[in-house]
This record gives sequence, C-alpha cells and structure tokens, in this order.
Amino acid sequence: MPGDALSQDPAELRRRIDSSKAHPARVYDVFLGGKDHYPADRDAAAAGLAANPRGYLDVRHNRDFLRRAVTALAGQDGIRQFLDIGTGLPTAENVHQIAQRIAPESRVVYVDNDPVVLAHARALLTSGPEGRTDYIDADLKSPERILELASATLDFSRPVALCLVAILHFVEDEEAYPIVRGLMDALPAGSRLVLSHLTEDLNPENIRAVQRTYTERGFTFVLRSHKDVERFFTEAGLDVAEPGVVPVHHWRPDHAAPVPEQPEESYLASLEDIEK
Ligand code: SAH
Repeated sequence: MPGDALSQDPAELRRRIDSSKAHPARVYDVFLGGKDHYPADRDAAAAGLAANPRGYLDVRHNRDFLRRAVTALAGQDGIRQFLDIGTGLPTAENVHQIAQRIAPESRVVYVDNDPVVLAHARALLTSGPEGRTDYIDADLKSPERILELASATLDFSRPVALCLVAILHFVEDEEAYPIVRGLMDALPAGSRLVLSHLTEDLNPENIRAVQRTYTERGFTFVLRSHKDVERFFTEAGLDVAEPGVVPVHHWRPDHAAPVPEQPEESYLASLEDIEK
C-alpha cells in the first residue's frame, strides 16, 4: 500500500534494527557526514577509511554523480518517473527533490531493505503537491515484489529511470545480472538505468582492503571491473550513454564539486545512464 512506510510499528522497527552490528546504510551515512549511526557503524567506517583514506571523498563523488544523472534525466531527457533501489538514508538532496525542482510532477519510488532507512522514510515522502513519492521496504533480490508495489505510484506504460547507485556490490553475480535484466525488461521502451559500482580497476590494494573490512563484518562485497559493469547494460540490451562507463566524478562533471585530475584518485567507478 502506498504510504505504508509511515504505518510501521515502532517496536517492530526497533527489533529489526541491530545497533551492535554495522549497517551499510549507516556506514555510508558516516562517510557522508550524517548523524544517523552507532559506534559499530563508526568502527566500520574507520576501518574503511584506514584502508582507503579517500573513502569519504569517493562517497561524495558518488552522491554527486546521482545528482547530475537525475538532473540530466529530468532535464534534457524528460524522464518523470524514478525507481531508486538502495536509497540509503535521506540526505539534503534525494532523488525527488532533485527531479521535482526541474519537473514538479515527477514521481519517485524509493526502495531499501534496511530498517534504519525505513525508520527515516518520512523524509523521503515529502513530495511536492504535483508529484508523488513512496517508500517500499523490500530487497533488490525480490524484483517482482518491488515492481508490483511500485505500480501503485509509477505508470509502467511510461518511461522509468531505474537507479541502482552503489548497491550492486552487495549482490553476487548469479543474482545481480538476472535481476537487473529482469527489472529493465519489465520497464517500457525509453526507460533508463543509472548505475554506479565499486571497482578494483582503480586503487586495487586500497579497495581490496576496504572489501575485507566489509566481508569481515559478514557482508557480501563484490568488486566489479569496467567490463563487468558494462555487462549490466549489454545483458539488459541497453546502449550506454556518453561518456560511457567512467569514474563517477568524470561523468558529465558540472564543477559544482571539485574534480580531481587523476582518475585513479577515485575508487567508485562508473555509472551510466542508458537508453533502452
Ligand atoms: N544509493 C545511495 C545509497 C547507497 S548505500 C547513494 O548512492 O547515495 C547502499 C544502500 O543499499 C544502503 O542503504 C543499503 O541498505 C541498500 N541495500 C544493500 N543491499 C540491498 C538489497 N539487497 N536490497 C535493498 N537495498 C539494499
């Protein structure tokens, strides 16, 4: 049911949130400078930063990539519907704020499987009056459920931008490729895929050390190469938009944030939005 996120039982939510263990959404929030985290998350972030001291900057570049991609889609491409899976904790600039600033009628469905994000869903349900937003508490590994629930808000006869930004490294190959293909197959012609992914192509030693900090904490953490990332698009029958799969801060930079000159300065490689 749309808006269901706000009717969660607080006791049930508290039961699902384990503050003794790091949660990826909260670790990411530490890097972004947020305040919704516990000591276990700060420990995990500190271990990640020790492995890759640029981590806090890479995360900001990733988030800034999301801003530019949504801006391009809502602006020049005329996309009015977004399905953002792996939303993360709300920030000042979520997809609906970016899209609705350009096109107030934009509709955005957020999806995350972390109860911490669900607990903050209210901040994502602040659509302007002409558009709509919804939040779905679901796992990327249940794409049919996501599509069914999202259809209450999104019109699947019109193009949708599927955003999978910094989430696919939590999913092994056997599931990741079929899920992305299946989701894109369910969306109509003219739909797009926005994707960013951690890679070991750049800074391999640091990034493998980061990977260890996650796997030690029990998380799946798959690093994918440039070719592996492109495969998400080719398997789904998509053409990659210009400039192709590149380090996130090299994707159509608008200089709203500083851009380092060396691509190897970033470990978060590549996103592309693709034309179906
Ligand atoms: N997309 C945001 C946040 C990335 S952090 C950004 O790029 O800024 C990754 C998010 O994916 C976290 O909030 C985590 O809870 C979520 N996530 C990880 N695995 C998931 C899964 N299998 N299903 C749904 N969400 C998942």
